[in-house]
Amino acid sequence: MPKGLLPPWSYEELGLHPIVNASGHMTHLGASVLTAEVMAAMRKASAHYIDMRALKQVAQQRVASLCGAQGAYFTTGAAAGLVVMTAAVVAGTDPVRIAALPHASWVPNRILIPAGHMISFGAPVEQMVRLGGGVPTPVGAVNRVSAVQLEAAIDGATAAVLYVRSHHAHQEGVLALSEALAVTQAKGVPMLVDAAAEEDLRQYVAMGVDLVAYSGGKAINGPTSGLILGRQDLIDACYAQDAGIARCMKIGKEEIVGLTAAIIAYAGQDPEERIRRRAAVVDILREGLRHVIDLRIEMEQDRFARDLWQVKVGVQKQSRMSLEELYHGLLAGPPVIVPRRYDPEAGYLVLDPRALGPEEAIVVVQRVRDLMSGAGSREKDEG
Ligand SMILES: *Cc1c(COP(=O)(O)O)cnc(C)c1O
Repeated sequence: MPKGLLPPWSYEELGLHPIVNASGHMTHLGASVLTAEVMAAMRKASAHYIDMRALKQVAQQRVASLCGAQGAYFTTGAAAGLVVMTAAVVAGTDPVRIAALPHASWVPNRILIPAGHMISFGAPVEQMVRLGGGVPTPVGAVNRVSAVQLEAAIDGATAAVLYVRSHHAHQEGVLALSEALAVTQAKGVPMLVDAAAEEDLRQYVAMGVDLVAYSGGKAINGPTSGLILGRQDLIDACYAQDAGIARCMKIGKEEIVGLTAAIIAYAGQDPEERIRRRAAVVDILREGLRHVIDLRIEMEQDRFARDLWQVKVGVQKQSRMSLEELYHGLLAGPPVIVPRRYDPEAGYLVLDPRALGPEEAIVVVQRVRDLMSGAGSREKDEG
C-alpha cells in the first residue's frame, strides 16, 4: 500500500513511473522540471501569509519591466490567459459586464481568428474564447487568410483579433502576424496573441501586440502557471476579471513567486547557451542512433524556432522490429520514454531535445539500441 504523499515518498510507491521526456514541454507530462532555485523561492513564499494583491503587483511589475511590457498579469496557464485576455477586451473594467461573463449580450464581443488558427492544444482555442465571453469568429479559409480579408471582417462587433503562434496552427497561406498587426492597428482593434510555448518574452510586445499569453510551464520552465503581457489599460482589465471568471483561474503565492523566479532566471540566460545545450543533446541522440542497425536518422528543423532541431527516427523495411513496436517499446519502459511525435504514415517518430539533459539523451539512445537488438523486449519478457 502506498504511504500516501507524506515524505519520504516516490512516484514509484504510487505505482507511477517518472518519464524521460523526449517530447518538449508538455502540460500533460507535467510541463517542466523546476530548478532548485525556483523550488527554494516557492518554499520561501509558502512560509508566510501575505497581501496577495500587493505581491501580485510587485511580481508582475518586475516581470513586465524585464519583458519590456507596460504590464503583466499572472494566471494558471496560457489557456486561462486566452480566457482572461478575451474577457478583458469584451468586458473591460465594467463590474456589471465582468459579472455577466461568459454571457456577453453586448457588442463588441466577437474575436476574429484566422480559420487555420482555430486549433486544439489539448482543448479548443475557441472554447477558451467563449469562456471569456467572446464569440469566436473564423476569418478566411484554413489555408488562406489575407490582410484584405481580415480588414473586411473587422466591424463594430469586433472586440479583438486573436493570432495563434503554435506548431498546431496552419500558417502556410495565412498572413504574417506583422501584417495582421498592421490591419488591427489601422482599425484600432486590439491584437491578442497566443504564444504559449514561444521562447521570446519580448518579441511580441516589442512588435506592438496589445496582449500576449505565455505558458509558465513551457519555455520559461516555471511552475504550472501562465503569463499575460501587454498594454497597461488592458492588463488593468485582466486584473479586473479577478472579481469574475478569473477567480477560478487564480494562482497561489507559491506560483506567483516561482513564476517570477523562473522568468528572472530565464531572462538572464544567454539564448546562445540554450541553443548550444540543445545542440549537444541532439548530437548525443544523432551520433548514438546513427549506427544502430536498421534505423534511419534524419534531422528536422522546427518551423518557428529556427535554431531548434529535432531527431527523426525511422526503421528500415527489413528490420524485425517495426516502427510501431519501437514506439510502443519506448512508451512501455522501463524507463518510460515519450517521443514528441509518432507518425506511422510518414514512417518516423520524432525526438525533441528541449526537456532532455545529456544523461537522459544517453538513456534514450541505450533504450532504442536495446529495443532494436531485441534485448529490450527480452528484458520485458523476463520481467
Ligand atoms: C500549451 C498551449 C496552450 C495551453 O497552455 P497551458 O499553459 O497548458 O494552459 C494554449 N495554446 C497553445 C498554442 C499551446 O501550445
